[in-house]
Amino acid sequence: REALDRDAILAWLALAADRLEAEKANLSELDRPIGDGDHGVNMARGFAAVRAKLAAEQPADPAAVLKAAAMVLLSTVGGASGPLYATLLLQAAGKATGKPSLSTADWADCLAAGLAGIVQRGKAAVGDKTMVDALDPAVRALDARRDQPLAAALAASAEAAREGMAATVPLVARKGRASYLGERSAGHQDPGATSSHLLLQALAETAAR
Ligand code: ADP
Ligand code: MG
Ligand code: MG
Repeated sequence: REALDRDAILAWLALAADRLEAEKANLSELDRPIGDGDHGVNMARGFAAVRAKLAAEQPADPAAVLKAAAMVLLSTVGGASGPLYATLLLQAAGKATGKPSLSTADWADCLAAGLAGIVQRGKAAVGDKTMVDALDPAVRALDARRDQPLAAALAASAEAAREGMAATVPLVARKGRASYLGERSAGHQDPGATSSHLLLQALAETAAR
């Protein structure tokens, strides 16, 4: 694909729902030692509901799809991650408004706005052992590739998220439930950084098709 149109965003969210369902046990397992063990269940339930809603409604353009998905996450995911991912999608929708399809540069703006929304809402910085540790490098990688073809840029963005995810292992958590453990949170990969990588990997694969 050369750009993300409505059908691409729909395909992305459907693939993400598949992957989150497949990784449900793993994501919850990551959340067990440093949280409450529900991240996989939260994400799989939320994105299954997103897919069902989008199949029924077929919103008109990328912004409408992203906004509808955000609303579903808000109402179906109780944990910290629900409102944060809803914010990401809603801010991305704001940047996508009026565009029938999103170029690499457009999506770079969308993802950057989404991350800014998460940071504003959750107050996490890079290094606090959260989803921000995967999303921030992904945004940077994308911004450096604004003029590149979509599939290559999104692959690089997903790879940067993967590295950021892996880098959360030694960190001490400073936000969210894991922060209650203090130093004992070190040595575990952050579940939210893991789901963020999964979402961006699904988008890269969608763009490559
Ligand atoms: P809960 O902790 O409420 O059970 P989840 O388990 O679904 O929610 O999500 C936990 C994930 O949410 C963490 O792994 C972390 O990545 C992310 N998270 C928690 N608090 C914040 C925050 N303030 N900013 C960014 N991400 C956060
Ligand atoms: Mg949890
Ligand atoms: Mg919870």
